[in-house]
Formats: sequence, structure tokens, C-alpha cells
Amino acid sequence: MNAEIIAVGSELLTPARVDTNSLYLTEELNALGVEVVAKAVVGDDRKRLAEAVRTAVSRSEIVITTGGLGSTEDDVTREAVADALGRKLVYHQEICDAIEARFRRLGRRMAQINKRQAWIIEGAEGLDNSEGTAPGQWIPLDERKVLLLLPGPPRELKPMFTRDCVPRLRKIVPPQVIRVRRFRVAGMPESDLDQLISPVYKRYSNPVTTVLAAPGDIQIHLRARSATNEEAERLLKEVGAQIEALLGDHIYSRDGQPLEAVVGRRLAVRGAWLAVAESCTGGLLAQRITAIPGASNYFKGGFLVYTDEMKRDLLGVSAALIEKETAVSKAVAEAMARGVRERTRADFAVAVTGEAGPESGSGRPVGTVWVAVLSPEGMRTEHRQWLGDRERIRILAAQQALDLLRRTLEHR
Ligand code: ATP
Ligand code: MG
Repeated sequence: MNAEIIAVGSELLTPARVDTNSLYLTEELNALGVEVVAKAVVGDDRKRLAEAVRTAVSRSEIVITTGGLGSTEDDVTREAVADALGRKLVYHQEICDAIEARFRRLGRRMAQINKRQAWIIEGAEGLDNSEGTAPGQWIPLDERKVLLLLPGPPRELKPMFTRDCVPRLRKIVPPQVIRVRRFRVAGMPESDLDQLISPVYKRYSNPVTTVLAAPGDIQIHLRARSATNEEAERLLKEVGAQIEALLGDHIYSRDGQPLEAVVGRRLAVRGAWLAVAESCTGGLLAQRITAIPGASNYFKGGFLVYTDEMKRDLLGVSAALIEKETAVSKAVAEAMARGVRERTRADFAVAVTGEAGPESGSGRPVGTVWVAVLSPEGMRTEHRQWLGDRERIRILAAQQALDLLRRTLEHR
């Protein structure tokens, strides 16, 4: 079953306010096994809103609007929905009485304009608002189709939805579960990855596969819909296993965990200590490692050695070596890693040196990155030539360093 959400309010079209109601509703609907297939933000405009509602109810079984149910002139949801459905608005004295009673309890008098909130779409059921005055509306369109009007303030919408709407929706939503599997992949360009796995996932409409790319980090989401948990899991397994076979150890996480957490877990399990030496990443690597709770159990610390002088004085990288090879080189990355390991007595040392640009200081092309990982099993180095601006190259360099460390930890 499919749902659409329409967030109403001109303020949501400005940079000042974000529509968070639809995020909340999407999560709740997904938990019921309902997929949200479209959402919109529409300003306080009766005609445009009527148009949006008409379109949404023509193609989705569940349509939810949020906002615009207040008492002021700019709240036009009731009128717009009446227009869209070609139904009348009916005045409900008992709703007006309830709103009036609420004001009285709060020691206030109800303003006349609040009466606007007692108008309900013909055939609709009013939904109590325990946190405010504007009632919601449950509007059955046919056996399996419903339009829901909910208030805008999240603190009013949420209890109304969980208390009054979820049980009603359960009765019309066929039993359906949505299960998700998330793979994370490092060190692979998005286009290469997609070329590799799209022949597999394109054959399946269920699960739906989406590929989300960030620099050096790609997430593959599989969403399966089915009547039962078992069947959804079976679908995920069928497609997931093929994707895993194609990507092999490029996949670093199957539970959504970031690379720094995966690496941390492996170090902790092994009871090993890590230390780092960073040049072009300027602390990004240590920042990511220490962002994980419990990092003090495996991370000793690091050296931020930006200049040649610091590489020499803090890590003992010889001036002659830097002179001969330049600071962005395999030999210097290795010397940095050896220097860190000696000084910290860590089990694993990671060093990263590169040219982040926009100008090259070492004479190496911008985007050149060397990473060295010195482990009890020996030295591993990796060279990459990244494309992009300074920010992107630095992020990619940190990711490259973490991923070489991960692969070193995985294949002892
Ligand atoms: P009220 O009786 O408070 O006027 P209403 O149903 O008319 O209720 P709106 O006037 O549209 O709701 O919105 C009231 C407030 O609720 C907004 O100022 C905003 O802070 C919040 N709000 C509205 N829509 C959303 C949304 N989609 N996401 C998050 N907050 C929202
Ligand atoms: Mg309002």
C-alpha cells in the first residue's frame, strides 16, 4: 500500500522552517508496512493545495496532510480539501463545545475565530487533539482509501497519529512488512560499483535497491516488502548474496556502521593499539577514530606533522629522504608509519601524506595520496590519485587510510 504526504504551510517554503512531520510520518508508515511514494510542501494557498490533494488521492491509497488546520485566515486546509473532494463542510456544534471547554479549563475565553475549527468535511470523523484545539480529520474515500488531515505542530500531530490513526490504519493496511539491508562500500567509484551490481538489482523490483554515494563511501540499500518477515528476509538474502559475491571485501559493513567503527571493533577484538601520523588530512583521521565511543580502548593518539620539519623532528623522517623522494611519496609515508610505531609502541601505525591542493607543494600532482599501514605482519602501502577540490581530497585521503587499515585487519 502506498502513501503520500503533503506538508502545508508557506513558512515551510522558506529556509527558516523544515518539514519534519513527514519524516516522522514516513517512519511510522514504514513500520506499518506502508511505503511513502511521494511528498510535497505546499504554501497556504487554497487552489494549489486543492490541486495537490486531488493529484495525491487519485494515485495513492493513503494521503496525509499536515498543517493549516488552525483558526486563522491563512489556514486553508479544510476548505482546500472540500474543494478537492467536491464535498461540503459540515459544522459540528459538539466540536465547538469541546474547544470552548478546553479554553475554559485553561481559564481563557474562546475567540470567535476558533469556531472555524469545528467545520468537518462531509463524511469525515473528527480526531481529538489532546495537545491543542484543531481537531484532525479521518476521511474515508472508499474501502481501502483514506485522506487524513493532521495539525501542523509536531507535538499535536504525533500523539494524534499514534493514538487515533495507527489503529485505524492497521485495519485497512494489508499485512505487510518492510525489511532493509544496508551495505557500505569503500574505495570504489560509484559508476564502477553501479556497473558491477546493476545487472543484478535491475532484475528485481522487490527489493528496491538504491545506491547513495558520498566521497569514498557508498551505501547500498535494499528494501524488501512482503506479507511476512520470512519472505522479506528471503528476498533480501537472494539479492543481497549476489551483490556480496560481486563486491567481495569492498563491502566493509552490513549493519550501517561507518568505517571508523568497523576498524575500531576489529582492533578492540584483537586487543591491539593504533596510532596515526597525518599530514594532508590535518587531524581528520584522528577526529573520525575518536568520534567512536570506546576509542580509548584501542587508539593511543597521533602526530599531526604538516611540515617537513615536523616529520623530521617528531617522527624521525630524515631530511635527506624527503629531499630525495618529496614529502608525498611511498618512502616518506612508510618512514612516518615506522616513526609513529616506534614512538608510541602501538601495534598498528597508519600514516597519510598527500597533495590536497589547490597548489602542489611537493611537485606531485594534486590529489596524490600515499597511505602506509605498519602492522605486526609488516608494511602495506597504497597510492591513489584522487580528483576533486581540497576538501574532497582530504576526506578521500582519510577514508583511504581507514580502509587500508581495515583490509590489513581483515586479512592477517
Ligand atoms: P495551529 O492551530 O497551531 O495554527 P495548524 O494545523 O494550523 O495549527 P500550522 O499553522 O500549519 O498548523 O503550523 C503551526 C506550527 O507547526 C508551525 O509554525 C510550525 O512550527 C509547525 N509545523 C507545521 N508544519 C510542520 C511540519 N510539516 N514540520 C514541522 N513543523 C511543522
Ligand atoms: Mg496555523
